[in-house]
Amino acid sequence: MGLLEGQVALVTGGARGQGRAHAIACAQQGADVVLVDVSGKAADVDYGLATAEDMAETVRLVEELGRRALAFDCDVRSQEQLDEAVEGALAELGRIDILIANAGIWSRGKFWDLTEESWNEMISINLSGVWRAAKAVAPHMIERGSGSIVIISSVNGIEPGPFYAHYIAAKHGVIGLMKAVALELAPHGIRCNAICPGAIDTPMTNNQPGWNIFAGHDHGTEADMIAGGYHYGALRGTTFLKPEVIANAAVYLNSPQAAPITGVVLPVDAGHLLLTG
Ligand code: NAD
Repeated sequence: MGLLEGQVALVTGGARGQGRAHAIACAQQGADVVLVDVSGKAADVDYGLATAEDMAETVRLVEELGRRALAFDCDVRSQEQLDEAVEGALAELGRIDILIANAGIWSRGKFWDLTEESWNEMISINLSGVWRAAKAVAPHMIERGSGSIVIISSVNGIEPGPFYAHYIAAKHGVIGLMKAVALELAPHGIRCNAICPGAIDTPMTNNQPGWNIFAGHDHGTEADMIAGGYHYGALRGTTFLKPEVIANAAVYLNSPQAAPITGVVLPVDAGHLLLTG
């Protein structure tokens, strides 16, 4: 028996990166998954977002594990699209037990240079998108009197970092949102917690602009990123973490083993916050 046997998990940003790891981990633990992602639509980021091919691959990986996967081309900036995805999932699978609000973007700029468009896009995806996703599943979870929500924040939900104030604001914001959601849903038997990943090896970070940040110049390499990662956490020998470690933490928080746990913030960062906090 898996820890999530017979359950249905909805994962936003589920096509690749940590979202794909969440989908696979849920399936390995016996859950069917509902994946929402934007399939290649533009955002103000210097790396591409997930494609339809990424989504098809995640569906294939879940199905390979003998679980069902429903995919929705859905932008977390749209309540209507999220509501349609939830309706579609309920029609097909009958229930949603788990929400992993994971979709996000990362862009950079000194706070005085950020445009209104860049600020609003970040807040609409990384903060309001989490609120919209929780709003979409809440009525169904309340009706059933059970459910678990995991919100993916960041160590930047606890500490600042230079030159992405909009991301810092959004990631701090989702921690406040998580506490409000946890408080309001607790009487209904529904839990809500947040995970704060440290440096994770995904398409958001493992790209030329990401390499350059760790190299400190414009011609960085993946090796520079990996080398920089060794200084990022406190645990000996640890560089960029694999997305699976975040998925494993979410499995625990969403499982019956975490039944009394709600409203908590769990850093999964190889001790990074020990060095900076
Ligand atoms: P990623 O870019 O691989 O995955 C993010 C996913 O979200 C992509 O599939 C993307 O297409 C999707 N997405 C973006 N905008 C969307 C929208 N408007 N609607 C629906 N889907 C959308 O990066 P990742 O590292 O897997 O990121 C997952 C989460 O983890 C994000 O919230 C990110 O901020 C957070 N995080 C990442 C790191 C890291 O080091 N990679 C560290 C801390 C927190």
